[in-house]
Amino acid sequence: MGDIFAVTNQKGGVGKTTTTVNLAASLADYGKKVLLIDLDPQGNATTGCGLDKNQLENSSYEVIMAEARAVDAIIRPDEISFDVMPTNSDLTAAEVELLEIKLREHRLRLALESTREKYDYILIDCPPSLSMLTVNALVAAQGVLIPIQCEYYALEGLSSLLRTIERVKQRANPNLDVTGLLRTMFDARNNLANEVSRQLISHFDAKVFHSIIPRNVRLAEAPSYGLPVLNYDRASRGSIAYMALASEFMRRQKQSAK
Ligand code: ADP
Ligand code: MG
Repeated sequence: MGDIFAVTNQKGGVGKTTTTVNLAASLADYGKKVLLIDLDPQGNATTGCGLDKNQLENSSYEVIMAEARAVDAIIRPDEISFDVMPTNSDLTAAEVELLEIKLREHRLRLALESTREKYDYILIDCPPSLSMLTVNALVAAQGVLIPIQCEYYALEGLSSLLRTIERVKQRANPNLDVTGLLRTMFDARNNLANEVSRQLISHFDAKVFHSIIPRNVRLAEAPSYGLPVLNYDRASRGSIAYMALASEFMRRQKQSAK
């Protein structure tokens, strides 16, 4: 049965979507069966996988509102080696509509019950907020991946994210755990980036992935072709970094399962 991971950080632009798409592609490249769930109404992961947001029959909105089954919203995009549950701005309405529904924090978990067994890994791209959608992802997940851009203010907001994770763990999902913090868009020549990186390691120690994602223009270009970076430029530093992350991620999973 596949484990579910929420890729989350309430800050925007820290590399959540880039990490979800490219970690999914790298895990699939290692032969794993992977599902990516787009839970951000901006639908950047959806377009980043080459899907047209305006042509979706079903999306994560219908799934979370129990208007469609997960299988009926899942697509295998052309040229891509993993499955995608896409989304679009319809999902914005779910934020409000969920508030009136019973078990509102458990909708995604319940919707994925029968889908989990088909995959080795399910990765959820979360919106840049600690909203009901993010809480749904945290209730459904076993692990949390936190991308962090090592810049000024990077650590601000991290404690409220960790508090939210702790609260979900206590109230709804005792199995939830932080799988790792990931340094993204890293520039080793930048003193501040190195300082923030040191602080992260001194606070979070082994929770920080050894793999670091460098700033790499290929990673920024690939989504405009609707492709993960592996499909776009396999030899790029971005591809190599996400393959290394996938390998470290799988190793961590095995260790935590023991
Ligand atoms: P989030 O989902 O957290 O809002 P994104 O993954 O969309 O963040 O990244 C924000 C922007 O930075 C996007 O334009 C993306 O292409 C770019 N980006 C992300 N990671 C990298 C990287 N490692 N190198 C260069 N550009 C990156
Ligand atoms: Mg995003």
